[in-house]
Amino acid sequence: ATHAASIPRNYPSITPPYATLIQNLEHIRNVLTRPLTLAEKILYSHLHDPISGLGNGGRIRGEAYLQLKPERVAMQDASAHLQFMSAGLARCAVPTSIHCDHLIQASEGAKADLERSIISNQEVFDFLESAARKYGIEFWRPGSGIIHQIVLENYAAPGMLMLASYKNSHTPNAGGLGMLAIGVGGADAVDAMTGTPWELKAPQIVGVHLTGNLSGWATTKDLILHLAGRLTVRGGTGRIIEYFGPGVHSQSCTGLATIANMGAEVGATTSTFPYTSNMQSYLHATGRGPVAQAADEAAAKGFLSADEGAEYDEILEINLSDLEPTINGPFTPDLATPLSRFGAFVKEQGWKDELSAGLIGSCTNSSYEDMTRVADLARQAKAAGLTAKIPFLCTPGSEQIRATMERDSVTSTLQDVGAVVLANACGPCIGQWKRDDKKGEENAILTSFNRNFRSRNDGNRQTMNFLASPTIVTAMAFSGSLSFNPMTDSLTLDSGKPFKFSPPSGQDLPLTGFTPGDTSCYPLPTPAPQSDAEVVIQKDSKRLELLEPFTSPFSDGNLELPSLKVLMRVRGKCTTDHISAAGPWLKYKGHLTNISENLRKLFDRFFCGEVNVAFDHDAPGGITETDTIPNVAKRFKAKNQSWALVVDDNYGEGSAREHAALQPRFYGCNLIVARSFARIHETNLKKQGVLPLWFSDKADYSRIGSCDVIQTIGLANLLQGQLDTIIKLKVTNRRGETFEIPTKHTMSTDQIKWLRAGSALNYIRSQMQS
Ligand code: SF4
Repeated sequence: ATHAASIPRNYPSITPPYATLIQNLEHIRNVLTRPLTLAEKILYSHLHDPISGLGNGGRIRGEAYLQLKPERVAMQDASAHLQFMSAGLARCAVPTSIHCDHLIQASEGAKADLERSIISNQEVFDFLESAARKYGIEFWRPGSGIIHQIVLENYAAPGMLMLASYKNSHTPNAGGLGMLAIGVGGADAVDAMTGTPWELKAPQIVGVHLTGNLSGWATTKDLILHLAGRLTVRGGTGRIIEYFGPGVHSQSCTGLATIANMGAEVGATTSTFPYTSNMQSYLHATGRGPVAQAADEAAAKGFLSADEGAEYDEILEINLSDLEPTINGPFTPDLATPLSRFGAFVKEQGWKDELSAGLIGSCTNSSYEDMTRVADLARQAKAAGLTAKIPFLCTPGSEQIRATMERDSVTSTLQDVGAVVLANACGPCIGQWKRDDKKGEENAILTSFNRNFRSRNDGNRQTMNFLASPTIVTAMAFSGSLSFNPMTDSLTLDSGKPFKFSPPSGQDLPLTGFTPGDTSCYPLPTPAPQSDAEVVIQKDSKRLELLEPFTSPFSDGNLELPSLKVLMRVRGKCTTDHISAAGPWLKYKGHLTNISENLRKLFDRFFCGEVNVAFDHDAPGGITETDTIPNVAKRFKAKNQSWALVVDDNYGEGSAREHAALQPRFYGCNLIVARSFARIHETNLKKQGVLPLWFSDKADYSRIGSCDVIQTIGLANLLQGQLDTIIKLKVTNRRGETFEIPTKHTMSTDQIKWLRAGSALNYIRSQMQS
């Protein structure tokens, strides 16, 4: 091989158990006799019970719930660790890694930024490292890189199924190596880490058929930007995107990862590709020859591609030869404009034809191929005597990429034209960008990142953020103008002569292999759990807190819920963001008490219609008091008063944020009655030990009000396994009138066990101890 393997990889279990997976698939084929897509093969071969996990077959995609067994977990912050710790296990059931990439703020440059961020986040990093030590988790220190790039370089493998938390949207990046990688909440990650079956509604599969060849300036980034324009931000919801056709095989593995990464922008569960020779080369180049060899054998048995004649729920055709560079935005990733029309688009919108910064890198576009292509442009510009006209920032995705760029003079070439190389971390992609010069001012930036919501990069709502390939960002950084088209336009040199870029060329893999760089930020290979190691949480910490197990409301033997007071009736749309606000609250993700203060964001959704106001009709002295929502909830908690919420349609829609279930439960919520629930949030409630019930008659929603008292009737039957039980609610309103309301439930046999134990974690813990 021309690409020497320079880094030996010794982390455990990085080769999928292909023999078992292929055998599992044989059982599946007894039930499903039709040809299977690749995504189906990977999913179904990871069923917890491959023999009866699909029942009698029938319609699976879009309908059945799969109980799956992921092979690996990666974690990005404190939430999943704390939940895992409260499950009481001594070690993780599957190989797991921890990554520190979100807390490093870009300001002066890599070295100073990293040093400053390590000091300001020391307590979080100390906690993560100590928890990793105790449970035998691989700990990637700050500076080692961005989680998704590290996963691609070290852990991803064709045919694998892995999860990453917390809410890790761009986990599908690893799909560039022909696997299924899915971003989930902490409680889902804990399922995999404890060996509990992880449930997923079988996604539909969209097939994207690639023909032709990319040429000139067009890259795989342009393919996904184009596709985002076609599918829109919701087009992939509940679906896996599976690419196939000759066009797949001509792309580099990291180029495919860019496509998979941004499948998140159309809402896809994940994206994947059949195994290619470029994937094989990438595995060798990243020190994983044994994985490549095993994958070759699995591919020969037909495991790593779709069956001939496999049917997709929808097929899209893309001829790569027709693709041109595309720029998406501002403010939404699906507003796609081909480069040839972008100048006119800018004019039509009346925007200032001015670019204020260019940013390249991130987990989406910091491969060796990306960096050598942009270095080619920088070299051309330098030879012409040009430097970047605007701030030009580069975020390497990993220490391995950074060190290899430095060794191969890519870094110095970029610095020669004015680029600032930032730390190997998310930086400006997640808003960790100390940008003082454009505060509150309308301006336009161009990035090779994946997201472009308002304020995402610099906190300024007036910053128009456009997405493009790294080469387009780089070329445009030399013009400083939004309407510049490097394919057709020239820049004027000081000499007055015109200068036009030639189409960039790069190298997909380094000819002399990757170099690991500073290995002190890498984990120990195969770390063993150290059960006597102490998990470091400072006594007065405001950011970290051990999770106390929730107590079961049935611990006294009574299988009906205790009398519940209705805290409030929620009116209209209520997303998980309304229940648990994000933004500045995110730094408290590891501290349930502190983050629960944000429950107030529920404000104008409630019965009273006022901002952050709830009623306590039993305040001392028998009077009715109003107070903030967390304060009334806290008062109920202090009195050991269980409470309930009455909510409207599609309660808990939006992101899978599990704090939206954890926080109410923390304050003593045991029951939520809804006109309807968003499915993922309903499952999250069940996991935390909150009973979700549906009104049989939606009109009954209006009959229950704040501070009414609810008693369950028939829950005992359900808890004893009678799934067809109708649970009734006996309501006593504030006028003393009593009536009964029938409800429906969606509890499964396993979920009943979670409820009875007080939470899924309590149940898992009891199983581990028995
Ligand atoms: Fe998320 Fe951006 Fe970091 Fe990637 S680089 S993991 S998209 S914040």
